[in-house]
Amino acid sequence: MRVSDSHCDTLWQLWRNGWERFPVEGKIDVTPERLSQAGVLYQVFALFQPVFERRSDGWDILLQQLDLYHQLIEGAAWTKGESGTTPILALEGADSVGACMDRWRLLRQSGLKMASFTWNEANELADGCLEPRNAGLSKQGFEVLSFLDESNIAVDVSHLGERSFWDVFEHQGIRLASHSNAQGVCNHKRNLTDEQIKALINAGGFMGVVFTPPFLNGENRAGFDDIVRQIDYIASLGGEDIVGFGSDFDGVTYYVDGLHSPADVGELLDYMLNYYQASFVEKVASKNFQTFWESRL
Ligand SMILES: [Zn+2]
Repeated sequence: MRVSDSHCDTLWQLWRNGWERFPVEGKIDVTPERLSQAGVLYQVFALFQPVFERRSDGWDILLQQLDLYHQLIEGAAWTKGESGTTPILALEGADSVGACMDRWRLLRQSGLKMASFTWNEANELADGCLEPRNAGLSKQGFEVLSFLDESNIAVDVSHLGERSFWDVFEHQGIRLASHSNAQGVCNHKRNLTDEQIKALINAGGFMGVVFTPPFLNGENRAGFDDIVRQIDYIASLGGEDIVGFGSDFDGVTYYVDGLHSPADVGELLDYMLNYYQASFVEKVASKNFQTFWESRL
């Protein structure tokens, strides 16, 4: 069974560890070998500046990660052939891109296919999910939104504040939540309300369930059953054709028991087969993302 994953922070890990080879030795969740072992069809790789460190060289950091993507991932042997993994370049948080259209055009030219406006806090473009002001998109944010939609770049609503989310849905375009869970199961600001999930369903979007306990059940430990609970809930809202996986490997502090890298996803699928028909497990594992992505290429 193939697998697709709409979010990982592997570029950030490669950058911050100063690694120049991929695969690498050391602490990293996503490696070519594990992607191949898991049968990963699509893997989204996000450029991510550590906004929580409040560094002033965010743009340089994004360019260095972009360079790593082109050197180590795009065009590599493991991305080719029938069983290869197709990489997708994304941006998580646009703090250092802001309203600078030269930078947005450079990212588009460099193969950017998916972008989010914020991490958890506010920036020039929008308010993130932990910004109490909850003010939505700025004028510049709407200008960037138009650029992304005209460029056929998917807008990722994970991490957005609630008002920002609805502002993004005022425009028509490609919409997904690359790594978000349902508030109906776990009441966390990073998770989406029922109305938000229904908006994604109506927009023909995608929602990747994120494999980290705090967003699954509010604790620091979780099991496969917590992932199934999220899938069940999203499907019960009508989302059986949009739900999939957005692992957040290489970006999380806490892992689900027995789920530390793509190499472990097979175990999760075996667990899911105890509860669901194989055709539904295949949809969640990869087909929903594949349909979402390929219908927009
Ligand atoms: Zn994230």
